Amino acid sequence: MINLEIPKKFKPLAGQANQVATEVFRPISRKYDEAEHSYPKELDMLASLIDGMSEGSGSGAGAAGVRRESSDGDDGNRNGSNLSTVLGIVELCWGDVGLLLSMPRQGLGNSAIASVASEEQLERYGGKWAAMAITEPEAGSDSAAIRTTAELDGEEYVLNGEKIFVTSGDRAELIVVWASLDPSQGRAAIKSFIVERDNPGLKLDRLEHKLGIRASDTANFILQDCRVPKEALLGSPEVDTKQGFGGAMQTFDNTRPLVAAMAVGVTRAALERTRELLAEAGVEIDYATPALSQPAAAARYLEMEADYEAARLQTLHAAWMADNGKPNSLQASMAKAKAGRTCVEVALCCVELCGAAGYGEDELLEKWARDAKILDIFEGTQQIQMLIVARRLLGKSSSELR
Ligand SMILES: Cc1cc2nc3c(=O)[nH]c(=O)nc-3n(C[C@H](O)[C@H](O)[C@H](O)COP(=O)(O)OP(=O)(O)OC[C@H]3O[C@@H](n4cnc5c(N)ncnc54)[C@H](O)[C@@H]3O)c2cc1C
Repeated sequence: MINLEIPKKFKPLAGQANQVATEVFRPISRKYDEAEHSYPKELDMLASLIDGMSEGSGSGAGAAGVRRESSDGDDGNRNGSNLSTVLGIVELCWGDVGLLLSMPRQGLGNSAIASVASEEQLERYGGKWAAMAITEPEAGSDSAAIRTTAELDGEEYVLNGEKIFVTSGDRAELIVVWASLDPSQGRAAIKSFIVERDNPGLKLDRLEHKLGIRASDTANFILQDCRVPKEALLGSPEVDTKQGFGGAMQTFDNTRPLVAAMAVGVTRAALERTRELLAEAGVEIDYATPALSQPAAAARYLEMEADYEAARLQTLHAAWMADNGKPNSLQASMAKAKAGRTCVEVALCCVELCGAAGYGEDELLEKWARDAKILDIFEGTQQIQMLIVARRLLGKSSSELR
């Protein structure tokens, strides 16, 4: 049976996150949309508060909190750090997704570390802000095509290559870099390495100017003889051709529901504001009357709300599975695909329904429509998620269905 209530133990966390979104994010949302590349300094104090919330609740309020639980054969229901993180992210992104992405110590690199790091690595790198660098000029959707190499030299790995579109790359303290130990061995040789941002071999090339999420910095890097200690490799250094890409891809099972949660938050923001503006224009949504007997705007709104609910439930399900040690690659991709597409469609349709008010800068609706698109692109595009879902459902490998 599906229980649609937020678990009691997470209610305070979701409430606090909503308060932060309302009182901190929303008031500065437009300011940092306009001031691209300037750091939202208001977030420093807030980040400490979020650290405290995570410690206090024993589970994550931000991306740093996710840790995959191992299945212990216990069929009991566990609501853990993945679900609490998703709930926190939904609320914060209802406030502003660009600001959430700029939050110190809550990067997607932090989730990657939390997902696969050993206890020693957690001790060493935990508490630092980590960005995630997978994409390269010749490797976007096809992450198996990455060309960055990591060569063992004594007690160090030497990294060489180029990384583009690294969210929080300029501001983070650590960059989780995907590189190949041996390109001749294909996907199995791809590993992730933790690189300190001030490593002299990691050179900032440029910052991107973007359509949306302008509060968040997006950096391009050159790695030139970048030396990291052997211990910076996350997970096992063994190249296991039987496991293939599984090791590195495992982090996506935890991070895709988080990006889906960002989309759910933005979708809800757009829907709520649209409902208020429609009400001001005399269109009330009536849940007791069939949609087709209502004004066209109300009927369209109800349709969008149904899509929003489906995206939200998919997202909660994928996170809940991670908390309960259940394989969730299929559900993580379904959630990311559904939530990303819903967010883009709903945000644009809200602009349409609200007319001039939706398009102007007096409202945040036009900004949300711009912010939405990235949520359907990074951590795997819409098309790639659909491909993964199809492969899983049909039992096909990546070479059989591409
Ligand atoms: C603002 C921003 C922030 C980002 N942050 C990060 C980050 O922090 N870390 C990081 O590593 N990357 C990041 N990225 C990169 C992002 O993950 C990639 O842009 C994304 O994976 C797509 O890769 P690509 O741009 O090379 O597009 P391509 O892979 O070239 O794809 C182009 C189009 O073709 C489609 N396509 C590709 N292959 C197939 C196929 N087999 N079947 C059907 N359609 C297909 C895609 O869906 C897409 O629509 C970011 C990107 C942006 C714009």
